[in-house]
Amino acid sequence: MLKLNLPYPPSINHYWRHVGQRVLISKKGREYRAEVSSYLNRKRVEPLVGPLSVDIELHMPDRRRRDIDNVLKAMLDALQWGGAFLDDNQVMRLAIEKVVSENKSKPKRRTKDEIAAGVEKPKPLQGEAIVWIAEVQTENLAAADRICLRCQKSFASLGPANRICDGCNEDNREISPNAEPTWSGKRHNGKAL
Ligand SMILES: [Zn+2]
Repeated sequence: MLKLNLPYPPSINHYWRHVGQRVLISKKGREYRAEVSSYLNRKRVEPLVGPLSVDIELHMPDRRRRDIDNVLKAMLDALQWGGAFLDDNQVMRLAIEKVVSENKSKPKRRTKDEIAAGVEKPKPLQGEAIVWIAEVQTENLAAADRICLRCQKSFASLGPANRICDGCNEDNREISPNAEPTWSGKRHNGKAL
């Protein structure tokens, strides 16, 4: 398990640059990659091999509206480039959570007296991304809470293909054409009346 404290990533709109047919990484993107890479070097991170599970806590720099999906590709690209793993296709599971601090308002401007007294200029607010990367057994990934495609409720699913909860499965069996009829009376929306 790796825990990384990364700088707030540039959004996808600032990470790549389109030049004619080609897609290049932007200056901001290169700077971010370099920061991530030297951080991983300092931590002496060896690239993880095998299937990975990635959890990201994205701490917003301020209360401006931002979409969290915009930063994912840049972050994974920088992590791969910096050698946290070999290829971002190793990522089997990816979770990202937005954290907006309640008390993050703009830093106060210094008064004349404070400037004269040598009080340092307040740093602009910075977000950060805390990333946990774990090597996982793909079998263990199979069981997880998933949303039932029928009733939209969360249930303990046995694997990615198990997307209907037990309750809905029961109903299913009742309306399946191969099922033994359990009720010969009237039905409404597949349910016995
Ligand atoms: Zn259900």
